[in-house]
Amino acid sequence: MEKRNIPIGLPSMGIEEWEATKEPILSGWITQGPKVKQFEQMFATRHEVKHALAVSNCTTALHLALLACGVGPGDEVIVPAFTWVSTANAIMYCGAKPVFIDIDLATYNLDVHQIERLITPKTKAIIPVHLFGLCADVDFIRTNFPQLKIVEDGACAAGSALHGKPAGGLGDIGCFSFHPRKSVTTGEGGMMTTNNDAMADRMDKLRNHGASISEEQRHHGPKPYILAAFEMIGYNYRMTDIQGAVGVVQLAKLDQFIDERDTWANYYAEGLKNIPWLRTPEVPEGYKHGWQSYVTQIDETISPMKRNDIMEILQQKGISTRPGTHAVHMLDVYAKLFKIKPQDFPNAFKADQFSMSIPMHNRMTKEDFDYVIEALQGIK
Ligand SMILES: *Cc1c(COP(=O)(O)O)cnc(C)c1O
Repeated sequence: MEKRNIPIGLPSMGIEEWEATKEPILSGWITQGPKVKQFEQMFATRHEVKHALAVSNCTTALHLALLACGVGPGDEVIVPAFTWVSTANAIMYCGAKPVFIDIDLATYNLDVHQIERLITPKTKAIIPVHLFGLCADVDFIRTNFPQLKIVEDGACAAGSALHGKPAGGLGDIGCFSFHPRKSVTTGEGGMMTTNNDAMADRMDKLRNHGASISEEQRHHGPKPYILAAFEMIGYNYRMTDIQGAVGVVQLAKLDQFIDERDTWANYYAEGLKNIPWLRTPEVPEGYKHGWQSYVTQIDETISPMKRNDIMEILQQKGISTRPGTHAVHMLDVYAKLFKIKPQDFPNAFKADQFSMSIPMHNRMTKEDFDYVIEALQGIK
């Protein structure tokens, strides 16, 4: 086959998103305003939650979610060892301690059976990560550990579901990302979801310097010259209305994007099933996968070469791959801070070393998928 260039991910946006930015730009209201509100309402409806609050990205969403759960210095928060670094960083921002938990290699999500032995009197919260778009078993956590606050890291999980219930409403607060590598994007962006009125109110203030009312309410209210009251130390984590306008258009396409990816995930599974050293992702019964990425695993005990050599061959053929994500406990900063060894979390270590994400996005054609399958079949 002729050489192709297939990026690992690519946002699907075009003229509609571009057109949508016209209104906020021409109106002059470009920070958090009516477009963000519309995006939030759509997001809340789609994820069946009472409140959705937009922020600058998922990392800031996680930070505010933990603050809204009352996490602070002296507290411990359980977090998977295999996730994007910012899940753990958000705990550090609060002055709390991340307590790592190993993952299940079949799902890449936290192994819920290890929670019990990690709990101490200081454990305040847990962050189940819905990695790559597959929900963690939040139902198990809620049922067995009702004393823990649950913050879902749903950065990859817009539109995913567990037993028919969308991500974002499974725990106390859900956090989402609209980075270009996620299923729908606003360039950068994040969302916090909750059914809890008090938590929503707190996060609403925290994202806007701790102000009692939003900029928009103040400017369009009866006495715009009176500044808001400030009762807490807040942050500026707002989303702009330009991003909100893009989010409205993108979100309307979310289900179509997921359906398409689901079809291609099955196509990959079928096309790759006879490669004995390549494990393709499984979707457990009752889960709706959002397919933010398609992550395989190399069994190096039987593969013709090491994972990184396979990635190099694919790279030379124009096929981008990446490790699924990294093991946070192995990153210098965390390994040193908490004196952790790679083998302390053996499955996270394996996922770090042997996982391989292969291209999956909505601008790929059948020929692209066939090209990837053929390249993998050719590795002998
Ligand atoms: C992408 C990602 C984040 C960070 O999202 P940003 O919007 O880039 O801050 C956090 N957690 C997970 C699991 C992610 O994949």
